[in-house]
Amino acid sequence: MKKNLVVGAGFSGAVIANLLAAKLDETVVVIDKKEHIAGNCYDYRDENGIMIHKYGSHIFHTNSDKVWNYIRNFTEFNNYKHMVLGNIDGIITHIPFNFNTLYDVFSKEKAMKLEEKLCANFNKEAKVPILEFQKQNDEDLKELAQFVYKKIFLYYTTKQWGVAPEGVDGSVTARVPVYLSRDNGYFQDKYQGIPKDGYTKVVEKMLNHKNIEIKLNTDFKNINPSEYDRIFYTGPIDEYFDYKLGELPYRSVNFKFETFNKPYFQSNSVVNYPTSEDFTRIHEYKYYLDDKSDKTVIAKEYSENFELGKNERYYPIPKTENTELYNKYLELAKQEKNVYFLGRLGDYKYYDIDKAILRALEFFEENFGKEV
Ligand code: UDP
Repeated sequence: MKKNLVVGAGFSGAVIANLLAAKLDETVVVIDKKEHIAGNCYDYRDENGIMIHKYGSHIFHTNSDKVWNYIRNFTEFNNYKHMVLGNIDGIITHIPFNFNTLYDVFSKEKAMKLEEKLCANFNKEAKVPILEFQKQNDEDLKELAQFVYKKIFLYYTTKQWGVAPEGVDGSVTARVPVYLSRDNGYFQDKYQGIPKDGYTKVVEKMLNHKNIEIKLNTDFKNINPSEYDRIFYTGPIDEYFDYKLGELPYRSVNFKFETFNKPYFQSNSVVNYPTSEDFTRIHEYKYYLDDKSDKTVIAKEYSENFELGKNERYYPIPKTENTELYNKYLELAKQEKNVYFLGRLGDYKYYDIDKAILRALEFFEENFGKEV
């Protein structure tokens, strides 16, 4: 029987461990440095019965039938559809910027004129990344684009990434395009929701197999790799190689939690602050599973640079020079025998939950020739 080591008990590690155990009937040891499973998707019910996402809001959404069919082996989902509000100079409105936002921030007359021009210039329901949206000829639309850039993207992105929108890869701001629609949804994916018992329970179920052993508070550095036939490494790829080519940069976040003796703090799960405050957004957790409590818990999200030993890695920074450094590590990775890298940290990619799961499922199918 083959013996596998999976480094990291987040979704990437849990999926691969589950498949090795359940589909190949091999033994798997899963280790994690943290004191809990589920990586940055870790959630728990607090003393008020509110499900807290320790590392910030995680909202599941996917267009992939493969991912949806797989994850539903481990949980049911509620029908939560994520919407985000923004506080723009004191006006609470919808993000992404859409036609409803247009009418919230401008007079009816101005909004109608702009809507007409937008409909004449773009396809129905078009999603236009802000850096594209700025390339307008019409003076009114040019002015609108400047408004959206300044009021939604400039300060928020500067807080989140430490640089203006032009300084980060276009794929980052394109995640929240200008949406020429009245749909206030943050995502339009076919499948959306929150796991009914939370994310930690999903990962727990994936790892609940007689062939799987979990070791928490365990550093890969203290493991003897030669005891294993294969290693699946979902930790930071630069750390695996002792940073010999340099550190891959990340952004980190710091959450300041507060509890209030009232049923609700704000009118939505997430409110962004693109024009004011030092934090980027406020999360109010009870909305996700509609938890009933006369108290509520919020977290203010502050972005900062990742520094080794000081805080956690959250976001790989998509940028040409970082991708080049990652590619050099990838070359080293290919020379390792029976060691495979995956996950947000192993692949150095800004994966959403579904993309991390899809990557692990496809990796398994390609390498072990078995359908999942
Ligand atoms: N963004 C912004 N203003 C907003 C929301 C998003 O400027 O109100 C930009 C910002 O650069 C952010 C990116 O869009 O990092 C992607 O946002 P998303 O909500 O997808 O980020 P995540 O939830 O993954 O942190």
